[in-house]
Amino acid sequence: MGRVAIVTGASRGIGREIAKTLAKMNINVIGNYNQSEKEAIELKEELKKENIEIDIFKADVSKREDVKKMVDYTIEKYGKIDILVNNAGIDLVKEFTKVTDEDWNKIINTNLYSAFAMSQETIPSMIHEKSGCIINISSIWGLVGSSCEVLYSISKAGVDGLTKSLAKELGPSNIRVNSIAPGFIDTRMTEKIDAETVEEIKRETPLLRTGNPIDIARCIEWLVNDEFTTGQVISINGGWII
Ligand code: NAP
Repeated sequence: MGRVAIVTGASRGIGREIAKTLAKMNINVIGNYNQSEKEAIELKEELKKENIEIDIFKADVSKREDVKKMVDYTIEKYGKIDILVNNAGIDLVKEFTKVTDEDWNKIINTNLYSAFAMSQETIPSMIHEKSGCIINISSIWGLVGSSCEVLYSISKAGVDGLTKSLAKELGPSNIRVNSIAPGFIDTRMTEKIDAETVEEIKRETPLLRTGNPIDIARCIEWLVNDEFTTGQVISINGGWII
């Protein structure tokens, strides 16, 4: 049996590219989606044309029962989970004084609780196998803070805290835990940002461009084969934040 990976939020953007990259490495991929069923089916069909099979699984990763169902499905079908990519996430741009408790619950549950619950359900299998690789997709805004995105920044800083603590706790079981903190990546999450602001970001970025999902997937490709990197927050941002 080859390696088995769960990628959350694989229907679109960064997660979709990560799922494709892992599948092309002959890794059995369970690509999670929640609302974008059509896109998830398209991903499965796109890969099928290249004779690559992936599973797609609908689950709201902010809910424990959905997380459990997806992990149970994977263990039942493949017997183990080698790689977990906690990628699913949403953002919210709102003045701090206008943020509600509902906003807090939505952002924190989707971005942070999901990584906590997915890790908790998956780790027993990794401990049993004495091997595992967890990669959490955080953000530069968890590192440097972002005006009008306080909840998003809190959730991503929390994800990096989870990464560092889990790396210490799970290292002796040969489980590596790392974060990738992307800068500006062209996806649906960033398409609402106006063209002028995007041009300004490009000018401020030493590599003079915004990122593509493949820029993140390349790091994933390296991380899943690495053996001595753990507890790190790797920020892929073209030098925007140094
Ligand atoms: P995106 O294109 O909006 O995709 C978000 C993905 O998350 C979708 O596949 C979506 O699935 C999934 N998702 C959202 N809520 C979910 C839930 N409750 N359960 C399961 N899946 C859920 O965004 P993206 O840019 O690729 O973002 C991916 C990750 O990178 C996020 O964690 C984001 O915070 C992080 N990030 C992005 C950037 C950037 O510039 N784009 C920068 C830094 C960090 P459905 O549509 O199927 O619900």
